[in-house]
Amino acid sequence: MAQSETNSAIPPVQDQLNRPVRDLRVSVTDRCNLRCTYCMPKEVFDEHHAFLPKDKVLRFEEIIRVARATAALGVNKIRITGGEPLMRKELPHLIEMFLAIPGIDDVALTTNAILLPRHAKDLANAGLSRITVSLDSLDDETMGKINGMGIGATPVLEGIQAAVDAGLGPVKINAVLQRDVNDHEILDLANHFRGTGHILRFIEFMDVGTMNKWNMETVIPSVTIVDTINAVHPLRPASPNYTGEVANRYVYEDGEGEIGLISSVTQPFCGGCTRLRLSSEGKLYTCLFGTEGHDIRPMLRSGMTQDALQEYIDGVWRKRSDNYSEKRSTLDPSHRKVEMYHIGG
Ligand code: SAM
Ligand code: SF4
Ligand code: SF4
Repeated sequence: MAQSETNSAIPPVQDQLNRPVRDLRVSVTDRCNLRCTYCMPKEVFDEHHAFLPKDKVLRFEEIIRVARATAALGVNKIRITGGEPLMRKELPHLIEMFLAIPGIDDVALTTNAILLPRHAKDLANAGLSRITVSLDSLDDETMGKINGMGIGATPVLEGIQAAVDAGLGPVKINAVLQRDVNDHEILDLANHFRGTGHILRFIEFMDVGTMNKWNMETVIPSVTIVDTINAVHPLRPASPNYTGEVANRYVYEDGEGEIGLISSVTQPFCGGCTRLRLSSEGKLYTCLFGTEGHDIRPMLRSGMTQDALQEYIDGVWRKRSDNYSEKRSTLDPSHRKVEMYHIGG
């Protein structure tokens, strides 16, 4: 029987590998103002690409129903992502709606920061807890090539400053490195953010989706990144801030802050993966490398009760046994995968 509201005394639902559900990642749009080569390459996402029509995108009320059901199953953190989430209108209102759900105490946002100068104050006023900004290069030319739009690093850095000015700092910075594209910038990035309070996190380039021409040779392993920085600024491993933190933390010995490494390829962390993902069109994915999502939009639009919705999601999580990253090397390369811009990382 589904519980109708959050109760911290009730143990969270667990999947087949005894993992609780703790985080919900909500993609609020499949659209983006950039065309990063590793996510939405512009050869594919050109003017002929059909993005979702408005009526196929979940409305705020529908997203909130899903969030409320997951909160009752154990979720306490929500991350808003996309596509580019700041392209969705009225986002601050959604943040307020999330924070009004019993059990939800943390609402974060991942953004490319281009629109932050326009929206940071409203996001802060709505109660946004934390912000993560994606920035792969400090060099305008390299950055422009990676994002496919010729937009340099400056607007992103201005977006970070806008977040700080609005009281949302310090922020986390996500950088994806690719061999022979931006791997020469490991130290530049580290030096730029050392001593600022912002936490730079390197994410290993992943084989998400089917269009980013990923291969193992293009991945810069986290160990290389740590060695490169450690040779100049000695680092020491630090313990996780909370159970299930996906980034391995390292602090600078001289007290100038920390970096994080998200080693999804070389050191998979499926055993601690507590994330459920909701795509903008209303599919639930229990893994970033999922093939088919669980389409709940028809249920949401056909008068399903809240208890029945919760019971359905409970069943989805209980059946979950995903551990793609741990099996990557043994899987058939033709394994079909959902695109990153659908589920937002
Ligand atoms: N548009 C927002 C942004 O870029 O921050 C949010 C959505 S984006 C899909 C979320 C994160 O996924 C970004 O930090 C991006 O760098 C990361 N990402 C996208 N494709 C990736 C890939 N193939 N490997 C690793 N990270 C990836
Ligand atoms: Fe857009 Fe983010 Fe994907 Fe880049 S990584 S194309 S900014 S959704
Ligand atoms: Fe979680 Fe799937 Fe990534 Fe493993 S591969 S950490 S199960 S999202």
